[in-house]
Amino acid sequence: MLVIYSIIIISSFTLFGVVALDNYESKRIKNEEIRLFQTANIVADTYKANQEDIILIRTMVKSYGRQANARILILDFDKKVMIDNHNTYIGEKIDNEEIRSSLAAKPKSGMYKLQNKYVLQLAVPITIDRGYERRTEGAVLVSASMEAVALDVNDLKNTLLKVSISALSIALLLTIVAASSLTKPLRSLTDAVGKLSSGHLGYKVKKQESGEIGKLIEAFNEMSGKLRQIENNRKSFINSISHELKTPLTAIRALIDSLSMGNSGLETYKEYLEDIEEETKRMGQLVDYLLGSIKLEDISLEVSVEDISQILEDAVKLIKPYAEKSDVEVIIERFESLKIKCDRNKLKEVLLNLLDNAVKYRDPDKKQKHITISLENNKNEARLIIEDNGLGIKKDDLSNVFDRGFRVLDSGITRSPQVEGYGIGLAIVKNIIEKHNWKISVEGEYGSGSIFIITIPLS
Ligand code: ADP
Repeated sequence: MLVIYSIIIISSFTLFGVVALDNYESKRIKNEEIRLFQTANIVADTYKANQEDIILIRTMVKSYGRQANARILILDFDKKVMIDNHNTYIGEKIDNEEIRSSLAAKPKSGMYKLQNKYVLQLAVPITIDRGYERRTEGAVLVSASMEAVALDVNDLKNTLLKVSISALSIALLLTIVAASSLTKPLRSLTDAVGKLSSGHLGYKVKKQESGEIGKLIEAFNEMSGKLRQIENNRKSFINSISHELKTPLTAIRALIDSLSMGNSGLETYKEYLEDIEEETKRMGQLVDYLLGSIKLEDISLEVSVEDISQILEDAVKLIKPYAEKSDVEVIIERFESLKIKCDRNKLKEVLLNLLDNAVKYRDPDKKQKHITISLENNKNEARLIIEDNGLGIKKDDLSNVFDRGFRVLDSGITRSPQVEGYGIGLAIVKNIIEKHNWKISVEGEYGSGSIFIITIPLS
């Protein structure tokens, strides 16, 4: 990239320099040409006006020559030099293109290189009006060195070169600074991606930029945080499952140990074997649950038109004994029948999960513990709301509760009653809801309760 920038800058400067110098040089030469033509015409006029006074003409030509810093010759029609401001060519015949053209009544100029120096040479005709006719009777030849112009051009070339080099250096420096400040955040992002892939989950890039790069950094940081959260959930999930499996295993081992002592009666054997069976059942359920959660994404719906109020009634019936035992009142408020297309069993599972949580995460310090269920029915959508006045969820955790393996308990609910769970329930709930193309969200305040809202589009 930098090379391309440099090439662009250098070629623009070179092009600009060449064009500017060329322009300047041809303008200067043109000006010189105009000036010398003027001098030649003045000399021709002086000659015409003072033909008889050759001394005066000589003096004038010398003075014009000095002023114009040029060699001035006056030639007759035979190209013989009559007057020379340097007096060296007098009487000699000179023939060149400019003189020939002038004697044919056409002024002409030309540039020549003599001993490596440029000389501008021009000639104008001396046309004399003889009353009955106008005749070209001679020519004025003026030549001047263009050395001063060459020196000026050279000076300008040097100045331009110096300015170009300084400008180029500044431009390159600025380009380097701009390019590095542009790529710096991208480099930090590349480093951060490397850190993530080497297992440094949760690594964040310092955000100093705004605009698109700033947004990219924000998205990266969010993704990194989410990955760490998922990893933490996975660890705590494995942790609680291992713990759950270990308890029945320890119990079974203890029972077998007691039995292997060999001095128990048949009744005790029977009783212990029943306990062992009970523990293996628990383990079986746990494994079923695990398998169920692993197949989370694969569920398919069996859709039929159902009355949502009936499904709710079924779920409430099932949860009521647990709620009553836990001193939680279940209130169905504003609920009318509404027929929708859904998977009856899966929706019941959703409601059971939400109601079970609402009881499970009740606040033991509250005197009146309750769950309120309502259905808001607008034209376009229905909202099924399950509200409790339990422990509530911290603001920071609200967005995580639907993640697989997430349990607030892991970040330390100490006031809670004996709470079991694996952080899978709400992940299943969300999956079922989204399979229906519905939405679920959670609101609420830590300490005062939670509100789970299922939004069902009706059109
Ligand atoms: P768990 O098996 O832990 O109950 P869930 O996926 O059902 O798993 O819930 C995830 C976490 O969300 C729970 O551990 C709990 O901290 C929190 N949670 C869910 N429902 C509620 C609720 N009604 N009140 C307070 N916290 C809740």
